[in-house]
Formats: sequence, C-alpha cells, structure tokens
Amino acid sequence: MLPWLEGSFQQLSVRIAADKLHHALLLQGPSGLGKANFALDLARLLLCHSRQGDKVCGRCQSCLLNIANNHPDLHIVESDKQIGVDLIRDAIKKLVGSAHMSGAKVLIIYSAHTMTESSANALLKTLEEPTSNTFLILTTEKPERVLATIRSRCEKLALPLPNIRTTMAWVQSQTNTEIDINLAKLFSTRPLALLAELQEEQSFTYDIYSLGLGKLLQKRISALQLASDWQDNADKVVKWTQYWARQQCSEQQPDSVWELHQQAAKAIKQLRNPGVNKILVLTQLLDKLALVDAA
Ligand SMILES: [Zn+2]
Repeated sequence: MLPWLEGSFQQLSVRIAADKLHHALLLQGPSGLGKANFALDLARLLLCHSRQGDKVCGRCQSCLLNIANNHPDLHIVESDKQIGVDLIRDAIKKLVGSAHMSGAKVLIIYSAHTMTESSANALLKTLEEPTSNTFLILTTEKPERVLATIRSRCEKLALPLPNIRTTMAWVQSQTNTEIDINLAKLFSTRPLALLAELQEEQSFTYDIYSLGLGKLLQKRISALQLASDWQDNADKVVKWTQYWARQQCSEQQPDSVWELHQQAAKAIKQLRNPGVNKILVLTQLLDKLALVDAA
C-alpha cells in the first residue's frame, strides 16, 4: 500500500470487518495519486477468504487468483476514451448471479467521469438495488464531472494527498534517479505521475525546459526559437507549461496566468491533430507564457 493512503485503507478495512462498508464507493483524488492501486487493493481485500485486518492472506484460492490477475468475481472497466454503455452493460451482466468463489463480487470503474450519460444511466439500477455482497468501486480525478445521480448514490471518499516530502521520499525509494526539486513541486500531490515522468526517456528533461523558460522570461530567447527547438517534445512542453501555470495560480490569479491556462488547454486539443504545425502551437503558447510575471 502506498504510504500516504495507508490510513484511509486501514479505516475501510475496519468497516469491512464490521460488515459496514457502503456497497458503492467513489474514490476521489488527482491523477497519479494512486487511486487505481487503492481500488485494486481494496477489491482484493474484499475478495480474500481469510483476511487479517487490512491484509490479505495471500494463500486462499481468491488471493491466488488475484495474484494471477484472473479472479472471476473481480471485474474492471476502463477505457482510454469515454466509457461507453456497452462496457457498463457487460460489466453489470457479470455481476448478476452468485459469485463464482462464494464470496464477494467487485466491480471497479476507473475514471468514472468518462462514463457517457447512457453508461451512467445503465449503472444506476445496480447502484440503487445492489445484490448482496456486491461492491462497486469508482475512481475519479474529476468528481464534478460524474453524473450527480451516480455521485449521490455513492459514498464519496477524498483520498489524502501526500506532502512534497512524502512524495519525494517515496519516488526516491522507487528509483535511483536524482529528483529535481522543481520538477517534484510540479507533481507534489501526484507521486505516481512524478515516477512515470522520471521513468520516461530523459532526452528532454525538466531541467532543459526550466532553463529555456528562464531565458524566455528574461527575453533572452524568442518564443519562436524555443518552439522550434522543442517541437519534438511538444506534448511534454504543453503539459509542463500547464503544471507551471497551475503553480503560478496558487500565488495569485492575474489575467495572464488565466490566459496561459486557456492556451494550454487549446494546445492539448490542437496537438491531437496529427497534421498540426507544432511550432505554431508552441509559439502561441510560449508567447502567452512570456507575458506572465513569474512568481
Ligand atoms: Zn486470501
């Protein structure tokens, strides 16, 4: 279990032991916090036939099936895009009838905010009339986008966020890479995202981005020049700029930061188009960035 989520997990395990866990949970928190790991660990705990507190036994048939990622009573819905109604209908069908392993049945829905309206509606009946010993675990980083009818039928659980020291200590324990404190700050409450970032190919590092940014703000390089240098890493530049803008926001909210935010959101959409002129997209973004009075 991820250290910053241990307390919450332990609390839920007490409720499982007392048979008082709500049948539908909505786990909330930013992406990269560890919601998916939490959901999976919780499902495995629910399915274990001889759990001890917040620990699975690791030896029962359920645990062995889980270790093999092959438990017939654990169903997972996830999708890169929107979660369509067919995925939800299929999942609900699997929940009908008795459990294969004569224990609990669990359905996990990752990124529940990506359910379409018809998907959400298809899920409503299951949420309203749960069959016995059936648990639904939904995760989301955008709870406000989850249909209100779904939200109101779930118990909402906002997972605790780690502080920067916890984040850095944990990421350090997972990798031997030196962690740039400024990069860590961008991902402060999203340790898994920071780890993924570090594990990605490091030809275009945050250091390089950071240096270029400094030069741009000091008007020692033009937005166009940077955009052309960075075009092969356009997605990364936009993402980092978005995080950077978010950081500036916490200080105050001048219009220039707001405009940078808007421009970054627009750039993300533009970059999805394979034929797009990346230099142009980046120049427009970096032009906005150059107007921010950096904190
Ligand atoms: Zn077990």
